[in-house]
Amino acid sequence: MSTRRTAIVTGAARGIGAAVAKRLAADGFAVAVLDLDEAACKPVVEDIRSGGGDALAVGADVSDETAVEAAVARVAQELGAPTVLVNNAGIVRDNLLFKMASDDWDAVTNVHLRGAFLMSRAVQRHMTEQRWGRIVNLSSTSALGNRGQANYSAAKAGLQGFTKTLAIELGKFGVTANAVAPGFIETDMTAAAAERMGMSFEDFKASGAAQVPLGRTGRPEDIAHTVSFFASEGAGFVSGQVLYVAGGPCD
Ligand code: NAP
Repeated sequence: MSTRRTAIVTGAARGIGAAVAKRLAADGFAVAVLDLDEAACKPVVEDIRSGGGDALAVGADVSDETAVEAAVARVAQELGAPTVLVNNAGIVRDNLLFKMASDDWDAVTNVHLRGAFLMSRAVQRHMTEQRWGRIVNLSSTSALGNRGQANYSAAKAGLQGFTKTLAIELGKFGVTANAVAPGFIETDMTAAAAERMGMSFEDFKASGAAQVPLGRTGRPEDIAHTVSFFASEGAGFVSGQVLYVAGGPCD
């Protein structure tokens, strides 16, 4: 990379987001580690700095318009104009349709869809000004349908349409938009799912791995590697794509 670029990774205090933040820092990006709680971002920031990278902890709720505008302005001021955005922040509120509260529908679609929209809208002005940008959205294999996840699967499928539309609108500015759709990844999110189902995480992982052609569950680094590719200079002709990273075939 000839000039240092700045990346924002949302939901980066832990799980996939933390791995993505560390990987992009290792790739040479200055990284804004954004999550709900600024203090929770500090360990990831320290990790990056101790490896010689540049990082900033930023607290913001991605579904809050005012907070998003302020966070992006702060990143531009303190780290440099953000030209890579990874929309990773996410929550689940699983339930079968007949038991799903409308609050749980709103909470999930707000974080994933409204959050990705607000962040992308705030960051695109820096990307279009620089005539270079990379947006990577975290979708999921659940976009193809998953029992108990009407809210989450709709949001993750929605992100795929959002991604393709951004690719169409922003292409002429040198900005790409792609989505990564992970399968089962070992994080707090899947550990909590195991707990809800009354299973140990080890048993839950084993049952997940049994359905994966590669015979294992994924790790946050598997996703970070894919995001690194989409964010790279060399991926500048790849846009509007959804890449399933699930250890084997998906749609
Ligand atoms: P995770 O361990 O639960 O981490 C998600 C992070 O997002 C948390 O740090 C969380 O903060 C943060 N967050 C939640 N709401 C936010 C908001 N409104 N504003 C800012 N940050 C917010 O989840 P993960 O497993 O790493 O998942 C990361 C992404 O990958 C999500 O979009 C998820 O849907 C997607 N994904 C995961 C899997 C999987 O198997 N793990 C599979 C497919 C897709 P708090 O800790 O404060 O809540």
